[in-house]
Amino acid sequence: MALATNLGYPRIGPDRELKRATEAHWKGQLEAADLLSRSSQLRRDAWETQRRAGIDLIPCNDFSLYDHVLDTSALVGAVPERYGWKSGEVDRETYFAMARGAQRKGLDVGAMDMTKWFDTNYHYIVPEFAPDQAFSLASSKPFDELAEARKADVSAKPVLLGPVSYLLLGKARGADFDPLAKLLDPLLDVYSAVIDKLAGGGAEWIQLDEPVLVRDCTREQLAAIERAYGRLAESKGGARLILQTYFGHVGDAYPLLRDLPVEALGLDLVRGLQNMELIRKHGLPADKWLVAGAVNGRNVWITDLEAALGKLEELADRIGGERLMVGPSCSLLHVPIDVRRETQLDDELRSWLSFAVQKLDEIVTLTRGLNEGREAIQPALAKNARALASRRDSKRAHDPQVRARLAQLDDRAARRKSAFEKRRAAQRKNLGLPERLPTTSIGSYPQTAEVRKVRSRYRKGEISEGEYEKFLENETRKVIELQEEIGLDVLVHGEFERTDMVEYFAQQLDGFAFTQNGWVQSYGSRYVRPPVLYGDMHRPRPMTVRWFEFAQSLSDRPVKGMLTGPVTLLQWSFVRDDQPRSETCRQLALAVRDEVLDLESAGAKVIQVDEPALREGMPLRRGDWKPYLEWAVGAFRLATGGVTDATQIQTHMCYSEFNDIIDAIAAMDADVLLIENARSDAEFLEVFKEFDYRNEIGPGVYDIHSPRVPPVEEMADQLQASLGVLAGSQVWVNPDCGLKTRTYDECLPALRNMVEAARRVRASLTG
Ligand code: GLN
Ligand code: ZN
Repeated sequence: MALATNLGYPRIGPDRELKRATEAHWKGQLEAADLLSRSSQLRRDAWETQRRAGIDLIPCNDFSLYDHVLDTSALVGAVPERYGWKSGEVDRETYFAMARGAQRKGLDVGAMDMTKWFDTNYHYIVPEFAPDQAFSLASSKPFDELAEARKADVSAKPVLLGPVSYLLLGKARGADFDPLAKLLDPLLDVYSAVIDKLAGGGAEWIQLDEPVLVRDCTREQLAAIERAYGRLAESKGGARLILQTYFGHVGDAYPLLRDLPVEALGLDLVRGLQNMELIRKHGLPADKWLVAGAVNGRNVWITDLEAALGKLEELADRIGGERLMVGPSCSLLHVPIDVRRETQLDDELRSWLSFAVQKLDEIVTLTRGLNEGREAIQPALAKNARALASRRDSKRAHDPQVRARLAQLDDRAARRKSAFEKRRAAQRKNLGLPERLPTTSIGSYPQTAEVRKVRSRYRKGEISEGEYEKFLENETRKVIELQEEIGLDVLVHGEFERTDMVEYFAQQLDGFAFTQNGWVQSYGSRYVRPPVLYGDMHRPRPMTVRWFEFAQSLSDRPVKGMLTGPVTLLQWSFVRDDQPRSETCRQLALAVRDEVLDLESAGAKVIQVDEPALREGMPLRRGDWKPYLEWAVGAFRLATGGVTDATQIQTHMCYSEFNDIIDAIAAMDADVLLIENARSDAEFLEVFKEFDYRNEIGPGVYDIHSPRVPPVEEMADQLQASLGVLAGSQVWVNPDCGLKTRTYDECLPALRNMVEAARRVRASLTG
């Protein structure tokens, strides 16, 4: 008999209970005991939901108060010294201090670093290893949660982040060494103890996640996998181990994984289609189970049950149905909880969607189909086929006009009329900026408590649309005046009308839908509700022209038109899976292009198209980078390529490393690139020693993520550093990112210092 399994369930609760509880606890409004009892309730509810759905292997230890990678650091006692922890259990206060920083008696520390979990929008706390790092078993969480599950009559499967992934996701601190080479053995001592204890606690199966296996692995890394699982197999007692991978195929690692001394191998069959090929080619030993990730855990669309069943039947033929587990392609952490609660979506659209609860049903249906035959699941198959057909034939999802327009475009649409040198001359004339070091900002100004309050009153209907608009106009007027007074050269309108740089545009485009409860965890207690991109993209009317025109009417200096680029709109949404992402991105590019041209007609001399997500959309394997960058850069160029030479296209990028994709960034051919730099210790500038970047560029001169106001000298030094590798005629002066999260008290003095720094350095250049 095949089994129905799950790899992980959303932790946040159907009504974001976890957020409310942790935040209340941090504010001192909820006792630790209550926080714990509420989390316990959330876990039991999640188990009950999965049990009722018919899942055989229900995960435990997939819950986390903040982040599962941080849980792992607590489990193995990897607490950086500055948090003041010595030995024993890692207490909750230390745990939260690592997550969020802490300021209390005897302790004043920042949070540990956070970064993206593979190519998802989930962020984990980056483990940190000292040169003399020791590990110890320092948390009872997995054992407690296993016991709790068993008490609730659920023979749960504990989930752990595997030791090799854990080390590879962390970083060395204080010295340059390779954590994997140096720390695997001591870490395995603790992991062995954990496995042994879980087995002793009654775990029948233990899932070890090794998602690093879907990246390009070195020989050393694969050897580490072999060594690690060889050792863990010795301590597993009566338990059976699952080596679980997800987010892609395992490639060359397959033969090694197949022969490891574990009882089951978990493979993603949705994003890792090549895994099917690998199984066909190399087979699976007769004593090994396969966890077949057949239901997409990364997206919100219903599964094509017929197609999935076809795959599963083939696998059952090859390896035997009695050694098959049917599951999601990855943890369901990355999807919202229950589509039935989306009462504002119409029935048709809802019938196309599948959130965590629905995905459990799909898994169980597929398992039954395998075990009992298709007839047993006939009604479900028929319903599924109807929904898929309605989606395939839907007029809402397919707009012949959009497709015809795209088909007509040729390569010229994505190419500016002239080369950069010629454009530059036209723009200089058009803009009348200082010859050297023009100053600007990235877009948003502080979203103050007042801005948020007025917005929320407007949403509740407490103030009229007219009153709300008046308020926004006033805020805009204020920042225009402030910028003029500070002496910035290219102004922005402040983005007060926007809550979020994707949602604001998605709400104005046909083809996007919005959920009421579709929250997914981004990090800690921060959840996002990505728009659902279901249909062909159409921009019914201008989206931002009104705010541009208003702002520009207040000043003689150029005000920027401000847009979110196609790749970022794509990356931060749940995207339709019935056509390639590249095609959807081209449609978005066309909508942005229309807006760019409308802004130009309305008199915008500078238009900024932000692409902060370009880098994070990169495929996990290097071999896939080139095609991705080609279509992503192509979409940006399609969005921006239609303007005349004299109109300046700026772009902004942040949150990432850029050195390894600098040629793709250059290929975007933006006239001005405003790029995060201040936090990377000028590492970024290194790239220009080698790479001959021709267009204009503003490496950020100060870090807006910190409340600190950098003195003039410091920013002047940053500028000098830029001038060391770039030409004086190329460099712009700007902060690292938008100022949305800062207060005016912080950003005004900083901007004043920035403008002064530009003046000084300018004087030294000409004088
Ligand atoms: N223009 C946006 C802002 O200033 C850019 C935001 C971003 O880089 N994420 O807020
Ligand atoms: Zn930014």
